[in-house]
Amino acid sequence: MNQGRVIIIGAGVLGLSSAVQLLKHGYQVTVIARELPGDYSIDYASPWAGAHFRPSPANTAAERLEQSLMRETYQELEKIAKEIPEAGVKFVPAIEYFDTAATLSLDEGGYTEWPGFRILEASEYPVGHGSIQLGVTYSGWVLNSPVYLKWLQQQAEKHGAQFIKAQLADPQEAVAVYRASQPHGVASDPIAVVNASGRGFDDHASFPSRGQFIIVSNQCDQTISHHCRDGSSTVIIPWPLGGGTVIGGTKEPHDWSEEISDISTEQILQRVGDLCPGMVDRHTSGLEKTHGFHVKQVYIARRPMRKGGLRLEKVDAQCKELQATLPLIHCYGAGASGYKISWGVANQVNELVSQIHVVSNSTEDE
Ligand SMILES: Cc1cc2nc3c(=O)[nH]c(=O)nc-3n(C[C@H](O)[C@H](O)[C@H](O)COP(=O)(O)OP(=O)(O)OC[C@H]3O[C@@H](n4cnc5c(N)ncnc54)[C@H](O)[C@@H]3O)c2cc1C
Repeated sequence: MNQGRVIIIGAGVLGLSSAVQLLKHGYQVTVIARELPGDYSIDYASPWAGAHFRPSPANTAAERLEQSLMRETYQELEKIAKEIPEAGVKFVPAIEYFDTAATLSLDEGGYTEWPGFRILEASEYPVGHGSIQLGVTYSGWVLNSPVYLKWLQQQAEKHGAQFIKAQLADPQEAVAVYRASQPHGVASDPIAVVNASGRGFDDHASFPSRGQFIIVSNQCDQTISHHCRDGSSTVIIPWPLGGGTVIGGTKEPHDWSEEISDISTEQILQRVGDLCPGMVDRHTSGLEKTHGFHVKQVYIARRPMRKGGLRLEKVDAQCKELQATLPLIHCYGAGASGYKISWGVANQVNELVSQIHVVSNSTEDE
């Protein structure tokens, strides 16, 4: 049954997951985005993400909400990994090392509850890393971000979603763009707009966190993260379906530079080689400069951070085009966790849309 049309601004993991979920619940969906899957831009975070699962502490109300979104996502990705291998999702052992054990309160939930959780023996730590105070392992997912985004887009298209490539000046412009896309006139106007634009529109709480990462073709069959005392981390994330391995990386809040730092590249290669010597190719000549890594790409991307965290709420906004108020569902500012919470967020968006009471005058297919 046609429940009405929803316009989604943004074709990142949050916009696309929300699109799929709304379509499954009977809504018609138009996605309008500056970038679509297959496009690359420093400000389109989703294709650049690792992307892997890492638990986070769940002590505050906001952290507990995030954990429940993570759990819904974890369960959905379990199904996808099992049933749809071409989506590019896989479950692998995850290992984390902490130089400061106090950063992880194991008894306060958040970590210990995930499948396969176990504290590592000190004998399992990598050689030469005397700084490590705590090591844990659990079962985590990894996904090949560009492949997964394309798959999400295909799922949405299969259910009839319309995709429009356009840059908007503000969320309400979406209605005019949608109307203009209908050559034979608009059968029904949208019942809501979802703002899944990454950093939002003119939100002063939003800011980027610059990340420099490297894709190498050296293989690793697990994720490994090492959290250092100075707050930096080294991560190793295998991408399924032959995508290579993402290694990194930097976290540089408020840094707008697009320049690749050779110093960071050198540090990442060295740290990853030390953390996982098994990955290093010691046989092929000519790899001295890259410390035994076959480098496919070094890149910079910006995580969509927001002071106060994810904005997920419904507001009534004045729509000039319709000369009426129109529900606007904000869904942006996912920071470094967009994939981890994506299906949970999509469920919340669906819930918020379902609360909208519509007086239907639709002539679109029922
Ligand atoms: C290097 C790196 C590693 C990461 N690793 C992980 C990880 O391991 N696990 C994890 O969960 N997360 C990870 N993240 C974070 C994750 O990538 C983001 O949280 C997530 O991609 C955000 O998705 P999004 O849909 O909100 O935004 P984006 O993916 O940024 O998508 C925004 C969309 O909105 C569109 N848009 C923006 N402005 C406009 C406009 N004015 N008009 C029209 N369209 C517009 C864009 O074109 C795009 O389609 C990582 C991020 C980076 C950069």
